[in-house]
Amino acid sequence: MQDISSQTHTACEECDLLIAVPAVAEGERAECPRCGHTLTQRPRQGFERSLSFALAACVFFAISLAFPFLTLANGGIENVMTLPEASIAIWREQDPVLAVIVFLAIIALPIALIGTIIALVTPLVLNKQAAWLPGVGKLMFGLNDWAMVDVFVIGTIVSLVKIAKLATVILGLSFWAYILFAICLTASLSGLDRLQVWKAIDAATP
Ligand SMILES: [Zn+2]
Repeated sequence: MQDISSQTHTACEECDLLIAVPAVAEGERAECPRCGHTLTQRPRQGFERSLSFALAACVFFAISLAFPFLTLANGGIENVMTLPEASIAIWREQDPVLAVIVFLAIIALPIALIGTIIALVTPLVLNKQAAWLPGVGKLMFGLNDWAMVDVFVIGTIVSLVKIAKLATVILGLSFWAYILFAICLTASLSGLDRLQVWKAIDAATP
């Protein structure tokens, strides 16, 4: 029988069963006794891995902003576009609302998300106390619900398949860097189990 103070009560996301989640050790995970859904998991060196992937994501993101995203070639005319130019081009096409959504989805939100992951995980990895950790934690999980990097990557690939019928599409360095950025960001987030992050935040808040 676990000490009640080391347990957290939560409702299973899948079947709503109210469960006292036991403390899990590194490398362990707790699952719902009714439906088997993973309630919480603590990957080995999860925070260290999250931080490494977030830093790698930063590098790939910088590369994807700096280099051409794609080149469209049609009848001898070449049109080179960088990632920031995508939203500028949509703005010029008289659709400011879509331009802002695209800018938020592909540039602003991902930058804010990586920034908050690094701000949150760095003190946890270094075992430092920080009074602002709960605020950053809330912000990080809030942004995570809104950032749609994976949706953007899939949307881009679908659009490219359509455009490829009309013009020759040459993928730039930025395109591949953005895919690597999306993979690193996803990998970084996968090490951040909500329950474990909040436990660590509680322990690291003075
Ligand atoms: Zn369940």
